[in-house]
Amino acid sequence: MIKFNLKCEHGHEFDSWFGSNADYDKLHQRGLVSCVICGSSAVNKAVMAPRVAQDAPSMELREKPLVDNVGQEFPAEARKIHYGEAPERPIIGEAKLEEARELIEEGVPVVPVGWKPKQAN
Ligand SMILES: [Zn+2]
Repeated sequence: MIKFNLKCEHGHEFDSWFGSNADYDKLHQRGLVSCVICGSSAVNKAVMAPRVAQDAPSMELREKPLVDNVGQEFPAEARKIHYGEAPERPIIGEAKLEEARELIEEGVPVVPVGWKPKQAN
């Protein structure tokens, strides 16, 4: 169950429980979510401002990439993973535009990113 803060076109705010986000979307699309005060079905989720704990785990955890930096081996490695010759894992590395294009044409899922390697020491 999930509770949403809803707001109708007239600015009435109320809470309602739904089985899930998808449930809410389904009901909302069919116009079955209506304001408890005026009955209008022009209802939307109110903007919520969740309280964030000050001592939440810092960004540090997220910054550690769980990807393998293969550097200039990227095109070869991406190909090996695609064809099952290397263990499947997320990798990052460098590829020339031409190489990246070839990979994409072969159906290797690569995402070009503007990324610069950190200088090693
Ligand atoms: Zn209303």
